[in-house]
Amino acid sequence: MRRAVVTGGAGFIGSHLCERLLAEDYEVLCLDNFLTGRPDNVAHLIDHPGFRLVRCDVTDYVHVAGRVDAVLHFASPASPIDYLRMPIQTLEVGSAGTHHALGLAREKGARFVLASTSEVYGDPLVHPQQENYWGNVNPIGPRAVYDEAKRFAEAITTAYRTAHGVDTAIVRIFNTYGPRLRANDGRAVPTFIRQALEQVPIVVAGDGSQTRSICYVDDTVEGIIRMVHADHPGPMNLGNPHELSALELARWIKELVGSPSEIAFGPLPKDDPRVRQPDIGRARDVLAWEPKIHAEEGLQRTIDWFRTQVGSR
Ligand code: NAD
Repeated sequence: MRRAVVTGGAGFIGSHLCERLLAEDYEVLCLDNFLTGRPDNVAHLIDHPGFRLVRCDVTDYVHVAGRVDAVLHFASPASPIDYLRMPIQTLEVGSAGTHHALGLAREKGARFVLASTSEVYGDPLVHPQQENYWGNVNPIGPRAVYDEAKRFAEAITTAYRTAHGVDTAIVRIFNTYGPRLRANDGRAVPTFIRQALEQVPIVVAGDGSQTRSICYVDDTVEGIIRMVHADHPGPMNLGNPHELSALELARWIKELVGSPSEIAFGPLPKDDPRVRQPDIGRARDVLAWEPKIHAEEGLQRTIDWFRTQVGSR
């Protein structure tokens, strides 16, 4: 049986990944310090014989006994509210945390997959974004704690490949949504859904013309799993090229929820990217991957899940 270590496995994407790896007959060791994730996200996996959850801050150390075939490094605050509140932890997990996770992959001869982000493209001057675009990031702007941590993480991952021969891979994940997002994490999809369900105004930043391309979590996870099994180093964009404006997204969610909420307009956060759309040509060629779940279906599933959570958290 193959064995995978997932850092950040009790988070949103990490928990779906653990679930999927178990379904693929992996043994899964989930390492998490519950900074932004929670044990609840993997509570349904605890009785699975192949699953183990260990509380561990990967910025301190990463030690694992026994064989490991794949290390998936997903530990990091990911929503703007989280990383702006925890700037140093975010920089540390992207730097020291990535270094430690790479050390584990090197020691075990495992494939290493880094969860990087479309945020390495910053406020892009090229649209849509292809992997060969270097990005437009303000290194002293508020978002730099996340963007530059991930850019460093990509650099050290590449250095481990060239200097130590580690079998590394980088996936650049674009906005992903689905069940287990936190209602108050500040990202557009969960915020709009919460506001629509609570029947309070749905607040769109700026004039709502900024665009996002949102990918349902099952599609993102499928791409990540294909990358685990490929021998390509990446970087590999994983996202849904279907681009929509924040205002369209808000209107759509309001309609799917059937909410009487009005749509209101709030301030635009500093350095907020104006546009965001992945070019997924490489993932199509190398991984034969493309998103399958239409936003309407993915949003409906997410809304249904949020309805089950009302009053339970
Ligand atoms: P999340 O906050 O739900 O999950 C992150 C997990 O990492 C949490 O469980 C948290 O407790 C854990 N963690 C944080 N610091 C840690 C540390 N020092 N040691 C151990 N565990 C730690 O976020 P997510 O949306 O699931 O994102 C997961 C990964 O995917 C992140 O690396 C993020 O940068 C990347 N990513 C996510 C998206 C997205 O749209 N969700 C987009 C691009 C990239």
